[in-house]
Amino acid sequence: MSSHDALDILRRDPRAEWIARNRLHPLHGAVVDNDMAEQRGPSGLLRKNPHRIGFIGPNGIKRIDRLKGNAAASVKGRRSGAAQAVQLPLHRVENPDFYIAVVADMVGGRLTSHDKDVLGQAHKLVAAMAGEGAVLTVCFGASKEAHFDTAGVDRLLLLDDEIYDDYCPEQQLAALQQVEAEYQPQYWLFPDSVNGGTDLGSRLAARLHQRPAVQAWQVDHQTTVCRGAGGTVDITRETPRVLMLAEECADQIDASRHEALSVTLTALPTVIAQLQNQGPVAVDPNAVALAEAEFILSAGNGIHDWEQFHTAAAVLGATEGASRVAVDDGFMPRFRQVGATGTWVTARVYLAVGISGAIQHMQGIGQCDKVIAINTDAGCDMVKRASLSAIGDSEAILGELIKRVQAYRAQLSVAGDQDAA
Ligand SMILES: Cc1cc2nc3c(=O)[nH]c(=O)nc-3n(C[C@H](O)[C@H](O)[C@H](O)COP(=O)(O)OP(=O)(O)OC[C@H]3O[C@@H](n4cnc5c(N)ncnc54)[C@H](O)[C@@H]3O)c2cc1C
Repeated sequence: MSSHDALDILRRDPRAEWIARNRLHPLHGAVVDNDMAEQRGPSGLLRKNPHRIGFIGPNGIKRIDRLKGNAAASVKGRRSGAAQAVQLPLHRVENPDFYIAVVADMVGGRLTSHDKDVLGQAHKLVAAMAGEGAVLTVCFGASKEAHFDTAGVDRLLLLDDEIYDDYCPEQQLAALQQVEAEYQPQYWLFPDSVNGGTDLGSRLAARLHQRPAVQAWQVDHQTTVCRGAGGTVDITRETPRVLMLAEECADQIDASRHEALSVTLTALPTVIAQLQNQGPVAVDPNAVALAEAEFILSAGNGIHDWEQFHTAAAVLGATEGASRVAVDDGFMPRFRQVGATGTWVTARVYLAVGISGAIQHMQGIGQCDKVIAINTDAGCDMVKRASLSAIGDSEAILGELIKRVQAYRAQLSVAGDQDAA
């Protein structure tokens, strides 16, 4: 043994160990340095002093930096919405042997959660088949989607000409037939939804002389299980070429990036439409069932001016919802209650005003895309869940919101009148 090794040997000192254990011993301070967060005890073991870890933040709350210095970058990333500082691996398909086509609903110009489920299913089929396949996604109308790559799109056919802006199923069907002629997809996947997927999928299936699977929720390249009889029975059948898939039919893509390479059609067919779009019809948002509403303005115990709340909902064109406290206190009818013992909602935007975010309420909004919170308490659970929060008094914030929306609408109608003149 070298003299250097001899120096590294830790010798236990039973007396020092005993003093270290005995906080009242006069020499305790000398044996244990309380100011150090981490130190080697007299027995050689590394001891952590939990009271010394972390630092006091600017608001007086103790913080522990578990990221060891990378915290600033991580917080910045989170705030800017860049959820993954991590670069996902890129999945490339150079020369696809075959295609699987997904026709996305693209409600509001963005992939819906249902679209992403269908993309996940498309990749499951690709993985189970021989050869290298690519998922070709067909989108109609102007797109605002920025994350085709992380949703699993290998090839993107964006048909955003003006002719696809309105309701034009015949025009869309003609384009899909052109895709069929040019790419011969192995499967055609549609979200089975009221947003267009079911309608277009049925039309294409009829044109291709296929018997489609509807409400399919378990699919592989041989068998498909569909929900039938209003969801009471499962029907197992051979997997057809055209499938309309139920929500949550497959896990969404979350572990890879895809190329989302733009592709085009060699010819864009135009048809003489039999249907004429007369434009959208105004509906009373409160006549829309809460479970189907896309935009909900929900009231909690933090609402004190109920007249103003109803005005805000009308001005924003939102369906009204409520927490249980607001219902129990008699301010809102029972059928407006959101939560575990109320309605489970799936809105794209859920604006929660003066709602703390109790677990029973949160259960009801688990499926909502974007949650916005207005609350005086910056630390409440609803603010933690929200993608955007306004911290302040509900009355002041709703008042300002109403004013701004009304001013914006007035500006739009003046611009419209000028265009007409
Ligand atoms: C078995 C069971 C089932 C339940 N089921 C449901 C359910 O289905 N749905 C449901 O909602 N609850 C349910 N609850 C009740 C739930 O536990 C909560 O009590 C309830 O959700 C709280 O409602 P709230 O957030 O409106 O009220 P509070 O918890 O009182 O929160 C009020 C919020 O408003 C904020 N606030 C106050 N003043 C203002 C202001 N001027 N401006 C802005 N913000 C302000 C506060 O900071 C607070 O965050 C259930 C409870 C039980 C026990």
